[in-house]
Amino acid sequence: MNILLIAEEECHKAGLHKVEEVQLLVGNLSGVDTEALITCLHIATRDTLLQSARILLDRKDGKGYCSGCEEEFYMADLLTPCPVCFQPPTEFRAGQELQIIAIRAE
Ligand SMILES: [Zn+2]
Repeated sequence: MNILLIAEEECHKAGLHKVEEVQLLVGNLSGVDTEALITCLHIATRDTLLQSARILLDRKDGKGYCSGCEEEFYMADLLTPCPVCFQPPTEFRAGQELQIIAIRAE
């Protein structure tokens, strides 16, 4: 997992020895299954600096835009249509994030 390699490299560079907490931002539209992600992280971080780190997830709402209706609307998932014309959004405006927002370490 790329995101973890980045995290670990940053920790090495900063001379940190043990990561206590990693906070991730996951958008509703990122296509990430958060439970699968956490399981994955626990496996992927074995024998790394992040081994015993707690993983905190921050969700971010999805937002879509329909150019036909000039409507911006909340999207619970990737299949949420425009509430006016019921077409898929022409643009995703938020919710596709998958990024590390904070790392706490010693
Ligand atoms: Zn529409």
